[in-house]
Amino acid sequence: MKVKLILPALTEAKSPYWRPIKYSLFPPLGLATLAGYLSPEDEPHLQDEHVEELDLTDSPDLVLIQVYITNAYRAYQIADTYRKRGIYVALGGLHVTSLPEEAMPHADTIFLGPGEDTFPQFLKDFKNKTPQKRYVSKERTLVGLPKVRRDLIKRNLYLVPNSIVVTRGCPHHCDFCYKDAFFEGGKSFYTQVVDDALSEIERLKGRHLYFLDDHLLGNQKFAENLFAGMNGMNRVFQGASTVDAILRGNLIEKAAKAGLRSLFVGFETLNNNNLAQSNKKQNLGKDYQKAIRRLHDLGIMINGSFVFGLDEDDDSVFQRTVDWAVENAITTATFHVLTPYPSTKLFQDMEAQGRILTKNWDLYDTRHVVYQTKNISAENLKKGYDWAYQSFYSWANIAKASLQHDHLKHAIKHFAYAGGWKKFEPLWNFVIKSRNLNNMLPVLEAVLSRVKGKSKEKVEVQTTQKELVTENL
Ligand code: SF4
Repeated sequence: MKVKLILPALTEAKSPYWRPIKYSLFPPLGLATLAGYLSPEDEPHLQDEHVEELDLTDSPDLVLIQVYITNAYRAYQIADTYRKRGIYVALGGLHVTSLPEEAMPHADTIFLGPGEDTFPQFLKDFKNKTPQKRYVSKERTLVGLPKVRRDLIKRNLYLVPNSIVVTRGCPHHCDFCYKDAFFEGGKSFYTQVVDDALSEIERLKGRHLYFLDDHLLGNQKFAENLFAGMNGMNRVFQGASTVDAILRGNLIEKAAKAGLRSLFVGFETLNNNNLAQSNKKQNLGKDYQKAIRRLHDLGIMINGSFVFGLDEDDDSVFQRTVDWAVENAITTATFHVLTPYPSTKLFQDMEAQGRILTKNWDLYDTRHVVYQTKNISAENLKKGYDWAYQSFYSWANIAKASLQHDHLKHAIKHFAYAGGWKKFEPLWNFVIKSRNLNNMLPVLEAVLSRVKGKSKEKVEVQTTQKELVTENL
């Protein structure tokens, strides 16, 4: 059986204003994971529209499309194209789970929730010519998960081909997050068997790994065993965690020992009322600066995530947030305009209050304002969001943030990582065009490598360096 697996491009990825490198980072791991359930005699073909032109003229027996909110219209268009030619199309993913009735007219089958139990059942039914219209995930387990079909991934087209997911979901319940809607009706946080995760890691070439788990430290026992197993593997890795998990116990030290070098942290807002309103309990009352110091002392760079437009935010939120991020030596920042994704608690509340302004899903990209704001105008929210990116990634602020570190080597790493990520667009575009993006991986590995020894060049050198950099600006 010929099976085509497609990740359609997110709308923003095709905009002339967005950065190609941002959409060439990670391969479509979810589809490669599902492909693991196919039989050896099946012929899968995986295409990711972010990095290649789709061929829609082929005639597979089955097309499987992964649908996010901002690729939904494109996904429906692709699905309709195949179905017009009598080809069977199945749709799954976050958006399909949120709005099954919207997706249904474009599909022969839809999947609601994660596919580890429903996709194998569908394959059996499909081969027996009895596929159902709708499969709803109920049994949540990663035990016996087949090997991810990494052979289907065109590694040379991605900066981070070694992305990996060893858990599903997250133990928390933030109101603006998709997670609860996606995992409704079953467990919303579960992990792989540690030995399976370690075997998957061992199969990955090179040193660098990027854990795409929502919360790598979310299950303490699992994470401890994972990190213990990774000791001695000589890996460097990146991942995501919450503030409370960084502060709790000594798990973060174990992660650093195993090779953790950069962490995505959802700070979201510096305002406690905003946190409480968003049900972000895991951040509430937590000492952000203590968590940051802990990470920096371990040589872990921080990618801070921030949301603008929560109800307590006013026009001052942008400057305050950028200043705070720079003063606290946050290496890279991801800013978002608050976005009420359909089926989330936030969306339901806003809809009940008549605050949803549009249901054009292409605008739900965390860069547009799609709801009625409270203490800030929509125009100022958009302007402030754009300004925050420009200001945070100005050379002056990259230098200033770098120089907040106690150690010169950390300052240099920070400067190289943040500058390299945001300031060398023509170079990234050139490497993407040459279709050898993974040649940049050794550079990334070098930047993420451990800073050896305790640097003594602390405050004095830092001051001198500060003066030098400021003079050159
Ligand atoms: S901590 Fe992150 S992944 Fe977990 S529910 Fe909140 S936003 Fe979602």
